[in-house]
Amino acid sequence: MSAAQELHNHTFFVLRCVLLCVLFGTGTPHLSNGAAGNTEAGDVDPALLLSKYVQNPSVSGSEKEAGEFFARFCADRGLHVRVFTDEEDSYNFAASLYPLKLGKPNIVFMTHIDVVPAGDPAGWTHPPFSGKISEGMVWGRGAIDNKAMGVMQVLAILQFTGKAAEADLPYNVTLLAVSGEETGGDKGARIIVDHYLEELNPIVVYGEGGAGMTGLIGAAPEKPVFGLGIAQKLRLFLAVESQVAASGHGSVPRERYPTKEVAKASAALLEAIPKITVSPVVREGLHAIGAHDTGIMRRVMMNIDLYGPLFGSIIRKDPIISSMLTNTMSLTSLTSAEGAYNQIPTHARAVFDCRLLPETDQDEFLAQLKRIVEPYEVEIRIISSSPPAPVSEQGIFYQAMEQSIYAVFDDALVVPFMFVAVNDNRFFRRKGIPAYGLLPAILPEELMESIHYFDERFPVEALHKGIEVYVALISTLLENKSIIN
Ligand SMILES: [Zn+2]
Repeated sequence: MSAAQELHNHTFFVLRCVLLCVLFGTGTPHLSNGAAGNTEAGDVDPALLLSKYVQNPSVSGSEKEAGEFFARFCADRGLHVRVFTDEEDSYNFAASLYPLKLGKPNIVFMTHIDVVPAGDPAGWTHPPFSGKISEGMVWGRGAIDNKAMGVMQVLAILQFTGKAAEADLPYNVTLLAVSGEETGGDKGARIIVDHYLEELNPIVVYGEGGAGMTGLIGAAPEKPVFGLGIAQKLRLFLAVESQVAASGHGSVPRERYPTKEVAKASAALLEAIPKITVSPVVREGLHAIGAHDTGIMRRVMMNIDLYGPLFGSIIRKDPIISSMLTNTMSLTSLTSAEGAYNQIPTHARAVFDCRLLPETDQDEFLAQLKRIVEPYEVEIRIISSSPPAPVSEQGIFYQAMEQSIYAVFDDALVVPFMFVAVNDNRFFRRKGIPAYGLLPAILPEELMESIHYFDERFPVEALHKGIEVYVALISTLLENKSIIN
């Protein structure tokens, strides 16, 4: 391997880690060696609460039982619970220091109740909904995604009930637990912003997104890096369709017919070379990481505008890096009106899942695709598009989370990041409410890979540290009376 090749490989290994962190919170991290947190979350054992919560299965579409369990826990501990919707497949509630009806500006911590299916139980070391506490971990579906976050958030909020009773705090603090995140948010966060936003009165939302990892900075591999989500790509589902009035016989093929046209147009779209674009958020995140590195890595990360296009052919081959630096298209469905095998169908359709960088103009993107498929008899139609969500600013709310991470994790680095998939934060951003995505935990790669897979589990120690982060965050925000003016 040449030196240049080696450099490329190393550079892209690091870039890849950064981007994996953004996508799934993965990379090559290991647990911080810091002492176990000594958070006192009242008389509640965080691991036991997480274990019990996991024991209430809540696969998307059947969240109610787990939601009721969690809401009951909050109410029993003195939080003001408001159940917004109470359906089997749509259980959404708020648990707050003060009743929502007081109308106080609200600091909202969002978590989703639902989990993805467990898959074959035989693949699990402990039954997926056992909530087994073993080897310093809480095991089970939803342990990481997203029940640990909900447990950390609520146990942090509970530490302020005394203060809230003694003094008239300037803000309310609320746990918002929603359904249906894994299936797009229509049964949860969307309902909240469409019908209950005024009642909730959020000034900020802290939800899921990035996480912490180590091994990113060559010159300081122990330094944990936290990607704090402030932006996300846009999702656009497109249909490429072709039809004719009458079907023909397969023995006498015409020059053009629907299946052939759609296949050729799809191939042209998939073969088009996407442009490398460095979004401001991506640039800033890499710049911040590069600033802590040395040598060539420092140069590459701090000058990604220059090096990104230079490494274009490598970038496009790497799905993760590509997703951060280009508009992507995946062919997710290819269908036709299937008849007899000798019959040419009257209709054919391809579906593309497109993910656009935040600064992309959707109309321009579509016009570009139409130029590519011009030689073929197809039409491009939008099936659905997620409207743009503004990038959340790095003001007081961002800084408060940043400082809270620094207070709990020695030598950590917090950098802004773009989430390439969609999550519930977008609903609030669209309403002009800043939303930040971060699981305040450093998790080893093997645990992050357990998300949506077998043996999902969350370290007990990380629960304590996460509670400390949220407590620091709430303290900082409550002390700052001038957020709203
Ligand atoms: Zn999640």
